[in-house]
This record gives sequence, C-alpha cells and structure tokens, in this order.
Amino acid sequence: MNKGYFGQWGGAFIPEVLHQTFADLEKAYKAIREDPAFWQEYVDLMGNYSCRPTPLTFAENLSNHLGGARIYIKREDLNHTGAHKANNVMGQGLLVRRMGKKRVIAETGAGQHGVATATMAARFGFDCTIYMGEVDVARQRPNVFWMEKLGATVVPVKDGSRTLKDAINEAFRDWVTNMDNTHYVFGTACGPTPFPEMVSWFQSIVGIEANKQIQEQHGNVPDRVYACVGGGSNAMGIFKGFLEYEAVELVGVEAGGKGLETGEHAARMVGDTASPGVAQGYKTMFLQDDDGQMLETHSIAAGLDYVGVSPILADLGDKGRVRFEAATDEEVLDALTLTMRTEGIIPALESSHAFVQAIKEAPSMSRNQAIIINMSGRGDKDIFTIAHAFDDPSWKEFIIERAEEYKQKSFLT
Ligand SMILES: *Cc1c(COP(=O)(O)O)cnc(C)c1O
Repeated sequence: MNKGYFGQWGGAFIPEVLHQTFADLEKAYKAIREDPAFWQEYVDLMGNYSCRPTPLTFAENLSNHLGGARIYIKREDLNHTGAHKANNVMGQGLLVRRMGKKRVIAETGAGQHGVATATMAARFGFDCTIYMGEVDVARQRPNVFWMEKLGATVVPVKDGSRTLKDAINEAFRDWVTNMDNTHYVFGTACGPTPFPEMVSWFQSIVGIEANKQIQEQHGNVPDRVYACVGGGSNAMGIFKGFLEYEAVELVGVEAGGKGLETGEHAARMVGDTASPGVAQGYKTMFLQDDDGQMLETHSIAAGLDYVGVSPILADLGDKGRVRFEAATDEEVLDALTLTMRTEGIIPALESSHAFVQAIKEAPSMSRNQAIIINMSGRGDKDIFTIAHAFDDPSWKEFIIERAEEYKQKSFLT
C-alpha cells in the first residue's frame, strides 16, 4: 500500500514548497504516536479542560418508546465548546506546542471549527488566523463574533464562490508563506496525509471510552454504532473503538438534504451523485460535475455540508465495513423533536442525522440488542435554524423586535 493511502483513497497532493513542512509534520506525528506520555497528557488535558470522559447515557425512554434495541447515546455534546471538535483541536494544540510553533491557522465553513481552534489558541497562547468565505462570514455571525472575542483574526475570503473551498485555498497560501512558525489545524479526517489519520487518532478517544462504557453498562459490545458523516471525524472517532469487532455493524449517516433525487444534499457515499476525484490535497469521492467543478451542496446541518469525505471512510465503505445511509432535513427535525421530548436532550442538527437512522432501525431489533448513537454535538447553536424550520411565531416576533430596537438605537447615535 502506498504511504498515506487507504485503498485507492487519500494521498498528499500538495505544492512542492510544502513538502518539507509535511515531512516535519509526519515526523512529529509519528513521534507522538510512539510516545505513551503524549496520549496521557492529551487524556489529562481533556479531562481537566473538556469534561472527558463524556458519559454514555442509556436512553431508556426513547428505547421504550421505540420498543426495540437498547439505545445508548455517547455524549460528545458535553465537551467544552459543545462538540467533538474540541478533541481534535486540543490534540493538535499539544502537537503544535511540541513542534515549537507559535501560530495556528484554520479554515472554517459553518464556523464551529473556527470557534474550536480560536478556543485552543487562546488556551495555548498561539497567534490565530481563521479563513472563512465572505458568504459564510455573513451567514455565521454568532460564530465569527466568538472567534474574534477569543482573540482570533477572521479573514473573509473574497475569491471564487466565497465559501469553504475558497477559504481552504487561502489557508494553504498562508501556510506556504509562513510554514516556519505556523501550523494548519485541519478540522476533520480529510485533507492530505497525515491529517486523515491524525485527526481520526485524536478522535479515537471517543471510541475507546464508548467501548469501555458499553461493556460496563450492557455487558457486551453493541450490535450497531451510528454516527453522522460530514468530513468524517466524529464517525471515525467512535468507529475506531469497534473496528476490530466484526459483529459490530458501523453505520455512517450523510446529509440527504431535500432528498437525493433533488440534487440538494451532501451524500457522497450514498446514491450516485459523487465520483472519485482529487481536490484540496487528497483523493476521495467528491460531489463534482463532469469537469471536476465542485457542486453546490445542501444540508439543514451546516457541519455536514461538505463536498468530500474522509478517505478512510471511503475505503471502509468499499470494503463493506461501514454501511452508509442518508437522512433528509425533514427526518432530522422529527428525530430531533422525538429525542428532545423523550430524553430532554437536544442533539445538534448534524448529530440528529445519526438519530434518524437509529430511530428507523431500533424497532426491528430485539430488546437484548444494544446500539450506540454518537451525539457529536449539542443543538443550542442551531437555535436560529431550528426555530426558523419550525416556523415558530414567537421566535419571529422576538427577532423582529430585536432588529427594530437596533435600528432605533443606530438612528439615535
Ligand atoms: C462539524 C460537526 C460535524 C461534522 O464533522 P465530522 O468531521 O464529520 O464529524 C458533526 N457534528 C457536529 C456537532 C459538528 O460540529
């Protein structure tokens, strides 16, 4: 097998000038992999700063309501900053400190990875620049607000479609210029090697904990594990805890958006819209047209709205080790409602995709079977989208009143 490839996927398609930087990163990553003290330092940091180990919650009401398998929820929502992203960024923070670099950059679409990176940079005392498409800056003001307040510089990228892929190009340009003191914090299990493997390794803390917890609570490994798939980092994280158990079925759930037939979705491993391609430094299944131009994607969950997918997951899909499904926006809102009402738990819109598939399948399983849903994050951040989707009249009134208030104030000043 070629270095950095998973089956036919992965690799490192990078500009010549970055070869040394990648070689250094590869070396630093190898060193921490072989150093048990590093992993312990990481576990301690996450325990003291981010609420790890996160609980595995038995969803008794939801299980009873559906009348099938016992449903357990891995609570990544209880991480600092509200999602599994903290695992990856804090891990890379420790690595950056070891490499002696003082500055981090990242690109972000929905802004969640930007907030997580800015948080990490504040904690470690790194200089931080976040690249974000101008369109996304306008759409994601609350996240931009927090990045700036945390001390990061947010650069709106005005090239191309002014979204995520343009931000990625700009981040690479920065890295080429500043590679001596700068590390590029990749946000998911994609990109050139060693990022897919390294990000999955940091996220494997989720699967390691979940394996131990389910054996304690259920007395066995689960029958199925569900995770939503954007770039694939939370899925890889929990799957890694169960990959070696052939009896454990692994299910990745992609964004079905308005339905696969509408073209408005982000399903790469389900349906036949995606095709093999090389972009953003690696080879995977991309949503692209015949000329290799990336297609517009859609999902109610901003974090799943991505054109590529982890090369590791693409390979596990080829091998039949991971089954892929897609959940539509509408199904996501139903699953979210049911979970809130039965358990008092608010999953992020991204995570709700995993709930959709679990809720579909649990009733036909038996009472002594168990499943785990990886709840990658909490839904509070989605209040604007969810309230809008439910067409909540009091929420509308609230927004209009606040806007009026601002208008009057700015008129006076
Ligand atoms: C970013 C995000 C995702 C998608 O990213 P993956 O790399 O696929 O895990 C999923 N859930 C939440 C809550 C997110 O913030």
